[in-house]
Amino acid sequence: MKQNKKILTILGSTGSIGKQTLDVVSSLNGMYEIGYLTVNKNIKELEKQAETFNPKGVVIKEEEYYRDFVKTTRFKGEILCGEEAVIYAAADEQNDIVVSSLVGFSGVLPTLKAIEKGIDVALANKETLVAAGEIITREAEKSGSKIIAVDSEHSAVLQSLVGEDDKSIEKIILTASGGPFLNKNIDEFEGITAREALRHPNWSMGNKITIDSATMMNKGFEVIEAYWLFGVEINQIDVVIHPQSIIHSMVQFVDGSIKAQLGLPDMRIPISYALTYPNRLKYDFPRLDLAKIGSLTFLKPDVEKFPCLDLAYKALEIGGTAPAVLNAANEIAVEAFLNEKIKFTDIHKVIQFALGKIEIKQNPSIEEIVSIDKLTRKLTSNFITNL
Ligand code: MG
Repeated sequence: MKQNKKILTILGSTGSIGKQTLDVVSSLNGMYEIGYLTVNKNIKELEKQAETFNPKGVVIKEEEYYRDFVKTTRFKGEILCGEEAVIYAAADEQNDIVVSSLVGFSGVLPTLKAIEKGIDVALANKETLVAAGEIITREAEKSGSKIIAVDSEHSAVLQSLVGEDDKSIEKIILTASGGPFLNKNIDEFEGITAREALRHPNWSMGNKITIDSATMMNKGFEVIEAYWLFGVEINQIDVVIHPQSIIHSMVQFVDGSIKAQLGLPDMRIPISYALTYPNRLKYDFPRLDLAKIGSLTFLKPDVEKFPCLDLAYKALEIGGTAPAVLNAANEIAVEAFLNEKIKFTDIHKVIQFALGKIEIKQNPSIEEIVSIDKLTRKLTSNFITNL
């Protein structure tokens, strides 16, 4: 491999962020070469990606799909299978940067291993910081690994902080679109179907995060993410609804000044910033036309309609394993909702049950987080069956 190119590995390369990352990589004029691409089971897309990007290796997590891939592929590099192989790919010494875009808790261990090796991480899997933020940030400090959030909000905060002293931050103001049910009457929330919830007004994303956006748990997760990434206190993180998704977030400083980052809602912008940080490269995306947009509006989040946002703040305040419980219960609840086993309004009840039921431990180890995740999944699944 050529010396001047950096090696980039993508965990979850066939998901929404994974595909957009490859899109960005293609337009970065050979700045990056691909280390590993990992997928759960989308081997058809993986075959195309392997042909276009010629990675060092690929990982297919599900064995059945791995066997099919091996039988049919023309790819000549390393082909690996299973969860351990995902961790192996993440922690490969040749990696300069790992894009962690796995869904849910499955992102925690591979991301942690990359960080322990001192590899920089472009983090799109926010559940990693939600479930294990304390451990992840501590290990990153130890190893010197840089964590750059690929989330549009945290990218906006990071961009607003360039040239600023952390001590002059007064508040981080995360913007939220409000999702598809911002203007829906609360009486109609019970009848919300998965199909309706999957229709996000501004962003095109994977299913899990789209449901999280509809309940506003996504914003709650982003509050927790911001807490770990920017080292502020909980009461220094505010959320404001901004339905146009043009201002991606803001920082308010001690002198009362506010800096914001604006742009069209296109994830390739924060992805590209994470891959070229602290530099910017020329990009031919469509440009924002403010006169065409006309007005930007803001309002306070309605916690009665979106109790998940409050639950996330609460879990962060409790600390220890509480955010891991929040995350696991949410994953189970979202899956059950998508499978039409529970109502939209049951999602927060499932999470509330878990937070009330499971004993919280402070300063947990990664093993304790993994076991609390398992326990939460088991108890919430039982709770759902009896609903
Ligand atoms: Mg976001």
